[in-house]
Parts: sequence; structure tokens; C-alpha cells
Amino acid sequence: MTELQSYLGGSWNTGTGASVALYNPSTEEVIAKTCTEGLDLEVALEYARQVGGENLRALTFTERGALLTKMANTLHEHRERLLVVSRDCNGAIRSDSKFDVDGATATLSAYGRYGEKMGNEYFQLDGNASRISSNARHIGQHVRLPRPGVAIHINAFNFPAWGAFEKMAVAFLAGMPVLTKPAEETALLTYEMIKILVEADFLPEGSLSFLAGPPQNLIDCVKEQDVVAFTGSASTAGILRSKDSVVSSAARFNAEADSLNAAILGVDVGVGSDIWHRFINNIVNDMTQKAGQKCTAVRRILVPDSLVEAVSEALVERLEGTRIGYPVERSVQMGALASKKQLNSVRAGITAFSAQSKVLIGGAAPVQGLNAPEGKGYFVAPTLFLANDSDAEIFHSQEIFGPCSTILSYDGSSARALELMKKGCGSLVTSVYSNDRKWLKSILLSAASWNGRLFVVSAKVADSALTPGTVLANQMHGGPGRAGGGFELGGLRALDLYTNCTAIQGDRALLGKLIGHSL
Ligand code: NAP
Repeated sequence: MTELQSYLGGSWNTGTGASVALYNPSTEEVIAKTCTEGLDLEVALEYARQVGGENLRALTFTERGALLTKMANTLHEHRERLLVVSRDCNGAIRSDSKFDVDGATATLSAYGRYGEKMGNEYFQLDGNASRISSNARHIGQHVRLPRPGVAIHINAFNFPAWGAFEKMAVAFLAGMPVLTKPAEETALLTYEMIKILVEADFLPEGSLSFLAGPPQNLIDCVKEQDVVAFTGSASTAGILRSKDSVVSSAARFNAEADSLNAAILGVDVGVGSDIWHRFINNIVNDMTQKAGQKCTAVRRILVPDSLVEAVSEALVERLEGTRIGYPVERSVQMGALASKKQLNSVRAGITAFSAQSKVLIGGAAPVQGLNAPEGKGYFVAPTLFLANDSDAEIFHSQEIFGPCSTILSYDGSSARALELMKKGCGSLVTSVYSNDRKWLKSILLSAASWNGRLFVVSAKVADSALTPGTVLANQMHGGPGRAGGGFELGGLRALDLYTNCTAIQGDRALLGKLIGHSL
């Protein structure tokens, strides 16, 4: 059994109180324990701000980019072992583990390449200089400088690898040190990855800190130049963003929260067409990948009345017989939920939804997982609902964070589709399936402003393997309203979170010399 430690102030530390156990969700065996009680987070964060911040700011973008590339390569050398750790702490099948672990290294590499292109600079010029008085020499130039604080990254349990490193890649490139805190349940994978990097011994002193689980007073230690980047439930986001330390310091707070993503099928889509198959495949993928524990998964499937029967049949046919179990061999198609808490919450959600819908497949009954000990493991069947009433509030306000989704019938008009989509109060992604340009035009931009991404599947891209749930380094991740109102990734736009924008004003020639640029 592994005893997790926290990496704070440049050394490994263990808390002094009672330990918390971490379980293999497929077998319910204890695989690790951790304790963060008694750790001095105030001192650790100050060390990161002072030592880590100075060391990172002393590097150019090219050097920071090289650091990210080296992190990606170093982690990749341990890929096979990390995929096994992911399986055993997350219940993930091999492709789900790859989604998380390879997603982490791919994002590090992508930001490594951005750094390389940004060259031997220490900060970014933002736009061109502009005149600010009648004297032509008198100009203002916006610059973006790394915030002289620490980036505190608080992550959800479902992506212990990608969640930690997609944030870290951006903060490091911007020039900010990081303290990363995974969710307790799946912290083992993040710990193993941090350990690999610490042992490789090439990161600038103080740039990386790691809190192995329970947060203790972390949020109370936030200071004015810090950034808190949170991923998790909307309720925890609400609590953290209103904490005194965050409000009174005006530290930056970014939230990626839960989201009731929609998929909208156009009435023009023929059964059996390429768009149809892409639609069915994407829904099945979203329901079963990571056992539906994906913030971008489709929770609301908007289907024209005339296609409800065909969609229901096609989805049930694809979902029945899904091989669920402990993914020690490759025939297992869907793994367990990550924790007992998750299992209870998903079962309660299924029961609540069942009261207002027809359960087309699945349900809350216990599932015996393949390769799992008798009666053990946090398994649940893929569950598809057909709502009795598409307007019923429960489907637009409650996220079942598991392999569950609901068909909501609508009349095929763009107005009604938009009305239902907006009931989710802001999402990470909505996918739209149609080849009818007029209909797409009537929906596209109105829907876009309610989403972080709008994923349009028309005939010419229907054969693409990309699914709406895939988050890419060059595309923004986040969404308005209920989705948290945050913004991550999207290429270099992501650096804005970790930089301060300042207008430097004065004599054009003098300022140019002082900052090393002709303005
Ligand atoms: P959660 O219960 O809200 O926890 C999220 C994180 O917050 C965990 O690391 C948790 O730590 C931490 N936390 C809780 N209280 C804290 C405090 N007082 N101070 C500092 N940290 C604190 O969410 P979850 O159950 O891990 O994740 C599931 C949710 O995340 C789902 O609703 C899903 O939709 C959402 N999610 C969103 C995205 C996105 O990008 N939008 C991505 C993934 C998941 P402990 O675990 O140690 O309590």
C-alpha cells in the first residue's frame, strides 16, 4: 500500500493526524492512504511565491517551453505504469486511462511548442503602442506580466492526470509557480506523476508543490496576486469563490464546474446517414467513456418527436451488453465509478430521474463487474431515460455524474431546441447534428453564447473521430453560468488567467529601451 506524501517547500511531507484511505473502485481494496492534517500550507505557499516565482520568471518563454516538453517526455517514459495506476485508482479501462494520462502529456507538449514559438522573451506585449496625448512621443503600451503569486490548482476526481497538468502547463508557461491539489479519491495517480518529476530533478526550485488530498485551510491562505483555478462541482465552486480570503484579496478565481451538456439532433438527419451514425456513436461514447464521469459528457439528448423511437432503439441496441468490470483485460468496455460516494450519488440520481421518465435501459440495481470479487466494486449500468416531460426541471438542473443521459423530445424547430438548451443555464459544450444550413444558421450563434464550445456535425465532417467531449489545448475549455464561468486552454488565451495586464505609459523611445522592444 502506498502512503502518499505532499511535496511542499521543496521537500516531501506527511501530515500528523489520522489518515484517509484510498480504494481500488473495482475491488474495494485499500490501495493507498494519505494525511494532510497539520501541514503548514501558509509557509509552503509563501515559499512557492518567493522561490518558485522568482525562478520561473527568470526563464524565457523558450526555456519554460523546453521545461514543459521535458516534463511531457519524462512522464511519457513511465506511461505503461501510469496507465495501470489509473486503472486501479480510477476504475478506468485502458482507453479511459490513456485519455487522462496521454491528455496530460499532450497538453504539456502543446504548451511546450507554444513556448518555443514565443521566443526569448520574459513577458508578452499586448497589442501595439498607442498615442495618449498631443505629444507624439507620449504613448501607452499594454504588457502582460506573470502574476507574482502562486497558482493554486484544485482538481476534480475524474481527471487526476490531465486535470493537474493541463492547468500546470499554462501556469508554468506564463511564469507562475503551482500548488496542485487533486481530489482525495484518485490522488494516487497525481502523486505518482509528481513523484516522477521530483525524482527527475530538473524543475526550478519552488516551482511545483503538491498537496496529497484533503485541502485543510488551503483556501484561507490565498493572497492578492494568487490565482485559484478550481475544477469540481458548482456547489464547491460557490463556497470557495465566496471565501473571505478570495473576496477580500481579489485573487483571481477560475471555476470549471458541472454542466448539463446538450446534443441536438436536427429533424433533417436521416436514420442510417453518416450524421446519424456519428450522433449515435458520440452519445454512446459519452455515456460509457470514463463511466460517464466526464464534465463534457452529454446529459440531455434533444431529439425531434419523429425520431425518438429510432434514436431510442439505436442507443439501447448499442448500450445493451456493455461489458462492465475491472479492466484487467481488454474485453471490459466500461469501468467502475471512482468511489462509493459516487456510486451512492449516481444511484440516487437514477432513482430520482426514473420517477419522471421511462428507463429505456439500465437502472440503479447492483451490477456484478467482470473480473471483480463477488459483490464488490462501484459498478453501475449505462442508463438511458426518456423524459415524460422535456421541460421537467430535474433534467435541466441535476447532473448525474455517471453513465446516464436523458432523451428529451422536441418539435424539431430551432426555437424550441434553443429554449430547452438554455434551461441548462450555461454549458461546456453543446453538439448540433444537421446538414440543413437554414436550420443551423437559426441556431448556431444564439446557442454559441450559452456554451464554451459549440460542436457542429454536418455531412462533410461526420466521418471525423473527434467527439464533442474531447478538450483540445488549442480550443477553449469552460463555459458560462452553471458551467462555472471559467476559461482554460484555447492556446495562448489561457495565459491571461496567470498574467496581469498593465498599460505602461511614457516616452516611446525611453520605454522601448527600458523594456527591450522598439515601440
Ligand atoms: P467536488 O466535490 O466539488 O471537489 C472538487 C475539488 O474541490 C476536490 O479536489 C475537493 O477536495 C476540493 N475541495 C472541496 N472543498 C474544498 C475546500 N474547502 N478547500 C479547497 N478545496 C476543496 O467535485 P468532485 O466530486 O471532485 O468532481 C465532480 C464534479 O466536477 C462534477 O460535478 C463534474 O461535473 C465537475 N467537473 C467539471 C469539470 C470541468 O472542467 N468543468 C471537469 C471535471 C469535473 P477533496 O476531494 O479533498 O474534498
